[in-house]
Amino acid sequence: MGNKLLLQRRSLLKAIAGTAGLTLAATTLPAVGQARSWGASEDTATLIDIDLCTGCGACVTACRTRNLASIPRPERPLPRPYPAWVRSRDWSDRTNEISRLTPYNWLFIQSCTITVKGEEKRVFLPRRCLHCTNPQCVTLCSTGSLRQSQEGAVYISSATCMGDGPCDRACPWGIPQRQSGVGPYLNFAPQYVGNGQTFKCDHCRTLLAEGQSPACVAACPQGAMRTGPRAEMVRLAKELAGQRSGDIFGLKENGGTNTIYVSSVLFRDIEANLLRQGQVGIGMPSLRPAGASLDKENSLLRAVLLAPVAGAAMAGLRMWREKQMRRKP
Ligand code: SF4
Ligand code: SF4
Ligand code: SF4
Repeated sequence: MGNKLLLQRRSLLKAIAGTAGLTLAATTLPAVGQARSWGASEDTATLIDIDLCTGCGACVTACRTRNLASIPRPERPLPRPYPAWVRSRDWSDRTNEISRLTPYNWLFIQSCTITVKGEEKRVFLPRRCLHCTNPQCVTLCSTGSLRQSQEGAVYISSATCMGDGPCDRACPWGIPQRQSGVGPYLNFAPQYVGNGQTFKCDHCRTLLAEGQSPACVAACPQGAMRTGPRAEMVRLAKELAGQRSGDIFGLKENGGTNTIYVSSVLFRDIEANLLRQGQVGIGMPSLRPAGASLDKENSLLRAVLLAPVAGAAMAGLRMWREKQMRRKP
């Protein structure tokens, strides 16, 4: 899909969000000009070498040290989600959970045992947002809260995210994680709109902008992760894969990603073993080789376009009903 069409869609979504009353008094939507031009050559990528990862978890600790304290906790009772069919998500009493992605844990180590040439091998994969070069989550975000930095880091603005969720459905790997009862919707109309906020890895974008490595990369004692210009990381990944007759994940998946994996074991074999060993599910992403799916994006786009209209109508009906109930003796 051309960049022009994506920009048009984004502008359209923002216009609709504004007319449906989704703009927030104290915040502003990002100007389209703030988004970087997709596919620009200055993308920064992290290359993760599966063969070097021992699963020690130092990267997970570094990520939590950097981010956990700033992720908001909800006040109880949690407001009823709106619309009513949306389930509340609450991880605030399980912030210690590190065996999957949660709003409070943006990186986890996925692992499986795999037999290679008759020998059992334990494989560890640090999993987080893949920072797609052309991410649907950004295109479909109904409030313009998902953005992409000049370095290609995909991040969520906590100032405007309403937790309404097209991003988690749009993501081929279900990366964004929602926490109910937090976020700007509480200052807006929590009984009538919003479901919290979504959270995910931001590729340590402020560090990238300063030319530094993400916290997880810097913390790895094995040197299993390396961050640099995407073209250089792709070249290195191809070189390593060539030496080992190995495999690369992230060159083409979902149109290309800025988290790239290299391994001596084929990723389709790792995926099959992860599935068999119960390591794939909600919060535990697959290695599904997602292509850029125009059909999925289009159906999600329709849902996003209709949601504000349906939401406004339902909110009006609900307010009217409550008013009628109050009038009854
Ligand atoms: S710190 Fe390095 S070796 Fe340890 S789990 Fe993370 S990527 Fe693997
Ligand atoms: S992996 Fe998912 S959440 Fe991350 S940039 Fe890609 S589409 Fe967005
Ligand atoms: S890049 Fe930053 S936010 Fe993302 S997993 Fe690593 S430390 Fe966490």
